[in-house]
Amino acid sequence: MTVVPLDPTSPASHAVGIDFDQTLVAHDEGWQDGRIYGRPVPGAIESLRALKQVRSVFIMTARPRRFHPAVAGWLREHSGLETLVDEDPERAYWQGDCLLVTNKKLGAAVYIDDRAVRFTGDWNSTLAQARQAIGLPSAPVPHRC
Ligand SMILES: [Mg+2]
Repeated sequence: MTVVPLDPTSPASHAVGIDFDQTLVAHDEGWQDGRIYGRPVPGAIESLRALKQVRSVFIMTARPRRFHPAVAGWLREHSGLETLVDEDPERAYWQGDCLLVTNKKLGAAVYIDDRAVRFTGDWNSTLAQARQAIGLPSAPVPHRC
């Protein structure tokens, strides 16, 4: 695992990015047209608070911007932490004291995401994991003429 300790010269080292859907909020009844109805994934809120004590935290979501205020509301309701919806199209980093809700992949020391494959420099392993994640055999079938 790559270790990224806090470094005053590296803005990315100050932040942790956490995915929202199915990482923080459960989808026990499917997508429901994007309505945010779910309960927190067990351990999510405690972990969010623990990370917030040591780093800035932003919440990543691929949801359209119209959902971002509701994401922020869910986070406030369940964590008690202050939130901010990202309105800055040029933002590349986050070093604030509240939870930032954004649909950008900002610089971070680590990302927590239910859909991620960790890249460790080995594309053979990464490709196999990616193929498995999308329901394909882990080894590509050789092309025959
Ligand atoms: Mg997700």
